[in-house]
Amino acid sequence: MSAENVKKITIVGGGSAGWMTAIYLNKLFNHSEKNYQITVIESPDIGVIGVGEATVHSIRFFFQAMGLDERELLAETNATLKLGIMFRNWMKPRNGKTHEYFHPFEHQRLGQLLDISSAWFLNNRDQIERYDEGVCLSAGLIKEGRGPKAEHSRPYQGVVPYGYHIDAVLMGRFLRKKAIEAGVIYVEGTVKEVVTEQGNIKSVKTDSESFSADIFIDCTGFRGLLIDKLKQDNWDSFSEALPCNKAIAIQRELPEGHTPNPYTVATAQTSGWTWQIDLVNRQGTGYVYDSDRISPDQAESELRGFLGDKSNILKSTHLNMKVGCRREFWIGNCIAIGLSGGFIEPLESTGLHLIHLGAGLLATHLPTENPSQALRDSYNRLMSGFYQDLKQFIVLHYCLSDRDDSAFWRAAPGTVKHCPKLQEHLAVWRHKICEFHDLAGSYATTFTDENYRYILYGMQHYPALNLSVQAEQSQQVFGQLEAMTQKAVAGTLPHADYLRQLNQ
Ligand SMILES: Cc1cc2nc3c(=O)[nH]c(=O)nc-3n(C[C@H](O)[C@H](O)[C@H](O)COP(=O)(O)OP(=O)(O)OC[C@H]3O[C@@H](n4cnc5c(N)ncnc54)[C@H](O)[C@@H]3O)c2cc1C
Repeated sequence: MSAENVKKITIVGGGSAGWMTAIYLNKLFNHSEKNYQITVIESPDIGVIGVGEATVHSIRFFFQAMGLDERELLAETNATLKLGIMFRNWMKPRNGKTHEYFHPFEHQRLGQLLDISSAWFLNNRDQIERYDEGVCLSAGLIKEGRGPKAEHSRPYQGVVPYGYHIDAVLMGRFLRKKAIEAGVIYVEGTVKEVVTEQGNIKSVKTDSESFSADIFIDCTGFRGLLIDKLKQDNWDSFSEALPCNKAIAIQRELPEGHTPNPYTVATAQTSGWTWQIDLVNRQGTGYVYDSDRISPDQAESELRGFLGDKSNILKSTHLNMKVGCRREFWIGNCIAIGLSGGFIEPLESTGLHLIHLGAGLLATHLPTENPSQALRDSYNRLMSGFYQDLKQFIVLHYCLSDRDDSAFWRAAPGTVKHCPKLQEHLAVWRHKICEFHDLAGSYATTFTDENYRYILYGMQHYPALNLSVQAEQSQQVFGQLEAMTQKAVAGTLPHADYLRQLNQ
């Protein structure tokens, strides 16, 4: 393409959203010839949010497709590997024990006559084990302190799917370095003025420069500096369904003698839940809570109490969370990606994944000519579908709880009325297994029936099955799984050993 035909994309914001989007679009559009001049303007005065450290497993495909060296990425961001999320305390204790279940990234692969979940129920295995322990390999791996990697696993590959725990600030810097090496222009400056013209952004101005572009991408975080200029009343709030609206984040040294867990821990508290994310050099923790139930001071003191007196705290930050999404993510020539586009509380670690989806869809929707309204409508419909679906999946975690020890938990079952489809599904799933077809027609790109099962059955929402299959036929799968688990445990590296090798 000749130099005068090269179009300009200007991204305002240099957090995870800004740099992930820049590196992605640069890779897709400027690989063999330069189609877009991509500039990122990042304020030296306004910090990044600095959280966003747990991921879902698809982030691997993003990093791999960007051509990033996995070992270099992990070593430079103090990352650890993640096989899923351990949920604690989301229901009343059972038989005097804290209620606990695990949501792995793994697909259930066994079962011929019957899927493994149906077989699990028909064999009454709920009487002897947790659902996840009965149907997947990952639960067996974490019990033995194993990660997903075997001695000779190739980059981005493991015995089971995995994501990462990653230092958010270091990841931003790493991506910035790689993007600049690949030709993205980096401007340090704070946008002070956004100039609009006939429903488009014409330019953005810092104190010293003005930037015009064909496409502007708003990655300014919760501020939504650009997109808000184009349309007011453009926010679909999810606060009724998901009332947690604040967080206190605390970084601390890893507790003495603690080796990093290859999973995130999400522990329910009186008015929300806490996360624990182990990096190689520290632990990220935080309490996501409903500020109608407790104050920031109460939340901080509850979190500190939970972490214990001996916590060596490095840093603490109080955060507001705007939960919901744009009605229109793409208006005129401006697209909002990252927190400026929407936010769902981080219970399933989906923030970076939604950036990946937003940038990916933008790439497929960007035409050579000026974008038509039909393209914008398509993008907006898909993105809002992803957020709505995710809202429903997160509500599932709360509405099944039988906890009644605080006003927050007593109100939790009521949140389902803000997700009518989920309410219908739950009634049906009392009588049958949750199946792929049940969610057909929705935007279940992130979490499918298998993920729903881990939450449903982890939270004891069991179906009363009306099947009659000989026990031996359905039992075979558990013997196979047991053998596969033993092989996987024997063949994988202890997570701690893998991290040691990586950081030598
Ligand atoms: C409590 C909490 C926990 C979370 N946990 C997770 C998690 O575990 N996993 C996950 O995937 N996601 C998580 N997220 C979401 C995740 O943090 C975000 O999706 C991600 O960090 C992207 O943020 P961002 O880049 O959109 O915004 P920010 O990080 O806020 O970046 C905004 C950027 O815009 C720049 N900027 C702002 N105004 C201007 C201006 N006027 N001029 C120039 N630049 C400007 C800033 O300098 C900054 O670079 C969490 C979020 C919260 C609130």
